[in-house]
Amino acid sequence: MNNTLPASFTHGSANERYVVAAERVFDGTRVLEQHAVAVSGDRIAAVAPVDRLRGTGRLIRFAGTLLPGFIDLHAHLLFDQTPQETILRHGLTTVRDTGGPLVPPSGGDGRLRVLGAGPILTAPGGYPIPVFGGHDIACEVPDVQTARAAVGQHVAGGAVLIKVALEPGGSPGAPWTGGHQPTYPPPWPIPSLEVLRAIVDEAHTNGLIVSCHLSGPEGATLALEAGIDEWAHVPCDPIPHDLVARAAAAGVRVVSTLDTQSHCTGVANNARQLVEAGILLLYGTDLAHTDVPWGIDAQELLLMLHAAHGALTPLDVLSAATARAGEHLGLAPLGQLVEGAPADFIGVRGNPLERFKLLEYPDLVVSGGVTIVAPVEH
Ligand SMILES: [Zn+2]
Ligand SMILES: [Zn+2]
Repeated sequence: MNNTLPASFTHGSANERYVVAAERVFDGTRVLEQHAVAVSGDRIAAVAPVDRLRGTGRLIRFAGTLLPGFIDLHAHLLFDQTPQETILRHGLTTVRDTGGPLVPPSGGDGRLRVLGAGPILTAPGGYPIPVFGGHDIACEVPDVQTARAAVGQHVAGGAVLIKVALEPGGSPGAPWTGGHQPTYPPPWPIPSLEVLRAIVDEAHTNGLIVSCHLSGPEGATLALEAGIDEWAHVPCDPIPHDLVARAAAAGVRVVSTLDTQSHCTGVANNARQLVEAGILLLYGTDLAHTDVPWGIDAQELLLMLHAAHGALTPLDVLSAATARAGEHLGLAPLGQLVEGAPADFIGVRGNPLERFKLLEYPDLVVSGGVTIVAPVEH
């Protein structure tokens, strides 16, 4: 297939129907050989063998693999003001901001889809204040009453989750301490169990999950006792097996962030234990942290694969950044290439199941049916 028509992508009108035929389509859960994706306006109209979609819209051939736009579940692009256009051009079509200024959901229409947590709820003087200051990133909640009120304000401002910090400090190799000189040394205060339970209760009443920043056993224990839904990181410090087993039994969801934590002492073994216990990691990078690319992070995907020691396939790992991430956001079929899903997709030349690195510079990026990166003829 070498009759790619780049102009078809760039000059299409917003509501037209077109069909992109590819060598293979990864739909978020499986690989379909010689399939095509039909797009109508901002939605996927159909995914089927090429022959079945011939004549249903302008046909464009793409010599490579189509995939859903990727979803990063852990980022701080708003606080760091990372350029959203750059992120989108590098394959992420949805990013969940897990700590930063409070904004309502936006994008998904040719712009990066951004969903946010708003400022991180923390104890007075708690993390992230000693590292990143308090403005636009932290919200101090000294007691149950202020905690409930803060959750209410976050909900009213458009937060899609509530983030809390359970960080006493001192984890060797943690990216939030390396390179940042804290304004005062650990130990840093952590919200009480009573305050955390109030946050979880108030968030759940409003239909939101609670995610926590944590780095070790102290945070993990508190998170389990408070009923927190998600760990925003695989912990940096070694976690005892009984805590891993309790997390699995409680159905805790865990976001990876393995790349940015690659200097942590416990992260690789924790990841292996979590996967062995049946917790499928979700893809997140802590985008905006040092050493994390502004787009899909192939190193993160590789580390997720290696941490599983053969228990996961490359396809499982790509699902963690697409279909399973969309489900985790409660926005399925976002993250899938199926009828009715948002027309957020990317294309790479070659097979990304064999080479994750291809994903870092996609040849095609479409957001809400709008072409952001058009393939060039080779
Ligand atoms: Zn964190
Ligand atoms: Zn973070």
